Amino acid sequence: TATTRTTGAARPAAAATAERVRADYAALKARGLALDLTRGKPSPAQLDLSTGLLDIGAAELGPAGAGADHRNYGGLTGLPELRAIFAEVLRVPVEQLLAVGNSSLALMHDTLVHAVLFGVPGSARPWGAERTAVLCPVPGYDRHFALCEKFGLEMIPVPMRDDGPDMDEVERLAAADPGIRAIWCVPTYSNPTGAVYGPETARRLAALPAAAPDFRILWDDAYAVHHLTDEHGEHGEHEQHEQHERDEHGDHTPPGAPGTTPPGGAAPAPGILALCAEHGHPDRAFVYGSTSKITFAGAGVAFLGSSPTNVEWLTGHLSRRTIGPDKLNQLRHARFLRDAAGLRAHMARHRALLRPRFDLVERVLRERLGGLDGATWSRPRGGYFVSLDVPDGCARRTVELAAEAGIRLTPAGATFPYGRDPRDRNIRIAPTYPALDELETAMEGLAVCVLLAALERS
Ligand code: PMP
Repeated sequence: TATTRTTGAARPAAAATAERVRADYAALKARGLALDLTRGKPSPAQLDLSTGLLDIGAAELGPAGAGADHRNYGGLTGLPELRAIFAEVLRVPVEQLLAVGNSSLALMHDTLVHAVLFGVPGSARPWGAERTAVLCPVPGYDRHFALCEKFGLEMIPVPMRDDGPDMDEVERLAAADPGIRAIWCVPTYSNPTGAVYGPETARRLAALPAAAPDFRILWDDAYAVHHLTDEHGEHGEHEQHEQHERDEHGDHTPPGAPGTTPPGGAAPAPGILALCAEHGHPDRAFVYGSTSKITFAGAGVAFLGSSPTNVEWLTGHLSRRTIGPDKLNQLRHARFLRDAAGLRAHMARHRALLRPRFDLVERVLRERLGGLDGATWSRPRGGYFVSLDVPDGCARRTVELAAEAGIRLTPAGATFPYGRDPRDRNIRIAPTYPALDELETAMEGLAVCVLLAALERS
């Protein structure tokens, strides 16, 4: 399975007494902390890994070094060199992958704006002209939900499992309701549970007998290369070696491109676009990604991949919005990352910084909440978050207690559409930004708040 959930089983003999928990909380408050576990931001040390981007200067970026004048207008679809690197990672044919702007969320926003105003290919009418609902695996990403809310798209929650959404439920709902026109998916290390969609989930989504002819999968692969385990590191180095061999033979085709055999001869896991085409729904998926958590979160590059028909639909709209993207930044990224192997090596350096943080979160939760009935949490193998379920009815109170003690958490309910967590139990922990000692203080404090909230309810 993608994530292992650790469950608090029996209360240990050393269960904290009520007085002890109250005293711990009073002591916590007295410390006057100011800590923040709210958003999944790279730490300064992670950002430092990409300082080299800023050293790529005029000699390389100017027309003489780059072979073309990227300082000027043009090139709406983005720089082919950079798109080739991410075509492999996102499993989209390079000619169907756009590199545009600095934010994949902005590209999701644009996709929905155009869908609401004009409809997507295959729509009878604009999505905004009739009831449109979107399936939302929960817990999920609050900014996806905020987009739906903004555009008046109804949200229907679907339970999230370790290998993706509950597909029986997705199939049942989508087949019965032609108003359901989309589903949000974060297929790799989902925000916040860390779930990784399995091949069968992907196949069922591609084959989904949706009642809406213009049904879309919004496949937000924000954490496609953000592994926390060595398994992928070894894989990465292996591929790096083979990439060099391929380079020597002058082969620059991305290994994931259709019709190519990946290094090592193993069959490539099919991308969602290929799966959709195979199941007779070539225009079903939009794929998103970005370098926000690879290079600089505010100054990276975003990607959108889809079928030729969808890409043409989108670039048609995009060409009214912009004359072209920041190709200099794209070129810097292409030079800095070099190729998919270079990208993987870079992500291994992120992993070295991130892994101790996730290990620490796991240790504190196990030590402090391991004996609390109803407390469970994810042990993600990648991505940026840990999803903590506290006993039913305790999430809001926990977040409030933490705020009073100077520990900011993502608001309870944020991981559900309309901010409504029906069991008031889910809390998203973002451990990447704080320094390790701060993270430890914040996690110990959070555990005290969970115990006190549970105590108040018992
Ligand atoms: N998708 C997911 C699932 C995310 O977690 C985030 C960042 N928290 C984003 C998209 C935002 O990506 P970008 O910076 O490319 O807009």
